[in-house]
Amino acid sequence: MTLMQHLLTLHRVDSQVRALQGRVAAADRDVTAQATLLAGLDRQTKELESQSRQLQATIKNLEVEALGFTERTTKLRGELNSAQNDKQYKAILHELKTLEGKKDECEGKALTEMERLKEVETQQAKLAAQVAERRKVHDHVKAQADERRAECSGRLSELERERDIATKAVPEKERAIFKRVAEVTEGEAMAEIDEIDRRHKEYACGECRIEIPYASVATLMSNPNALVQCTSCSRILYLAEATKEVLRK
Ligand SMILES: [Zn+2]
Repeated sequence: MTLMQHLLTLHRVDSQVRALQGRVAAADRDVTAQATLLAGLDRQTKELESQSRQLQATIKNLEVEALGFTERTTKLRGELNSAQNDKQYKAILHELKTLEGKKDECEGKALTEMERLKEVETQQAKLAAQVAERRKVHDHVKAQADERRAECSGRLSELERERDIATKAVPEKERAIFKRVAEVTEGEAMAEIDEIDRRHKEYACGECRIEIPYASVATLMSNPNALVQCTSCSRILYLAEATKEVLRK
């Protein structure tokens, strides 16, 4: 086999490996995206839980405070009956009024906080539904990714073995060039030379369309072990059998 045939074999197997790896990676990306969304919802859930706890504590404190005022007013009402004179009576009455005002204030605040708690609880219920829905999607995507990995793994290791063999068949220098170009082009290391105009000997890189000098075409025709790269996109150039056939005539 010529260098070009070895390179084309390597390219074919390498593309297949990359395509399969890409399929697995795409599925993994879907899982990561869903996990990120879930984590965001999780953060919101924790935030609402914290708000709910704080509100419940505030309400509890206000209720205890209001109860304290109630107890004191009950006690004062008893004292009212045993007042010695009008001055004392009025003083107790004044204190009673103040205490009742404070109690009303506490209860008013507690009511406001309860309204806020109710709002938070409504948000929590909505969020819980969103979390359940998102988790379903996540689990589905995860199962698909696992399935795809299992599906691909056998074929992938088989192809990787084939790629190892194909890689070893290419001499070291050309192998390094192939590897470098394949990395840069994400597996599109080879480009076919397209014939643009036979009479004027015009040829172009099949990938980036830049004009290829006829000398390069002639080199590939005369030496099947030559490696010619596109001057623009660096891809390794090759001639299709049909083009070679025409050029030979
Ligand atoms: Zn090119």
